Amino acid sequence: MSKRDYYDVLGVSKGATAEELKKAYRKLALKFHPDKNPDDKEAEEKFKEAAEAYEVLSNADKRSRYDQFGHRGVSGSGGFGGQHMSMDDIFSHFGDIFGGAFGGGFSSGFGGQRSGRRRVNRGSNLRVKVKLDLKEVAHGVEKKIKLNKYVACDSCNGSGAEKGSSKSTCPTCRGMGQVTQVTNTFLGQMQTSSTCPQCGGDGEVITNKCNTCHGNGIVKGEEVVTFKVPPGVADGMQLSISGKGNAAARGGIPGDLLVLIEEKDHPELIRDGNNILYDLYVSFTDAALGSSAEIPTVDSKAKIKITPGTQGGKVLRLKGKGLPDVNGYGKGDLLVNVNIWTPKNLSKEEKTILENLKDSPNFKPNPSAQDKSYFDRMREFFSS
Ligand SMILES: [Zn+2]
Ligand SMILES: [Zn+2]
Repeated sequence: MSKRDYYDVLGVSKGATAEELKKAYRKLALKFHPDKNPDDKEAEEKFKEAAEAYEVLSNADKRSRYDQFGHRGVSGSGGFGGQHMSMDDIFSHFGDIFGGAFGGGFSSGFGGQRSGRRRVNRGSNLRVKVKLDLKEVAHGVEKKIKLNKYVACDSCNGSGAEKGSSKSTCPTCRGMGQVTQVTNTFLGQMQTSSTCPQCGGDGEVITNKCNTCHGNGIVKGEEVVTFKVPPGVADGMQLSISGKGNAAARGGIPGDLLVLIEEKDHPELIRDGNNILYDLYVSFTDAALGSSAEIPTVDSKAKIKITPGTQGGKVLRLKGKGLPDVNGYGKGDLLVNVNIWTPKNLSKEEKTILENLKDSPNFKPNPSAQDKSYFDRMREFFSS
């Protein structure tokens, strides 16, 4: 079905002023309003069509695009694009159009809430931080924390009703959670709905409120919550523990517990994604003669060999000694960056020995004799 011309929909001329558009739309919206035409599909379509036409023509930018290019010029235009308007979208804009004509009561009554929609109570979310060391990150950990939060009232089991008393259907809204008011306006009778003042939208009232929680069904309390942190998490990640937030009033849905992950610094190891970096310093003599070194790992220590003639800047890779990927895609490595320690203070005797070695051809730097160039090593390092 092709779309009708927006000016035809509203029954106005191409040169209609903003005031004329508003007036025309107001008239149509009242005529085809769903509350006045219950279960009338055709009226609902007309209602939406008018809202769409008004939405475009009331916006100077969209209107000029529509005038130039027709429906193509405004279809899919950001956020509120034409036919994708929901009833709630339409109602949420009513305040602007009807606010002045009917006073505050009208706009709040039409504020998007359709009649007969009961409100479900929801507890608020709670946020906590946990600080993990590298070992906990590597293996995952079970954390147990005590939370100060709203819990269901013990005396009434969260219902808010005193023992022996019961809940009954709210007499004001007859269980609908909403009340409808009929208002006489210059355009005829209008129905408006708003949250029931007696039950606050629950649809039920408590005959005898619980003394402990004053009918709220929740009290301030404590709960010890245990949850698992998976291996490989990183600083700034957030876990959501469903249903462990604040309890909701009168037996609604509890909120969630949001756990923000923080990392403690390791004294020697640095995390880089799933890899771990370690800066190793080797003495000039050990590097020349060959030796071994002890490297700290997440769990213990590892011994590595320093082959004779090891150059500074060499990166040794301990495969799989890094951190597990949080999504389970394998494990990172432990990368050992070898630095050669140049002595800073020398005794007279040491100086003499070194001065004797100074002119030896073996002590002359010869980068071409290295197994890998600096750039090759860097390339390898960053592609890991
Ligand atoms: Zn209670
Ligand atoms: Zn009620």
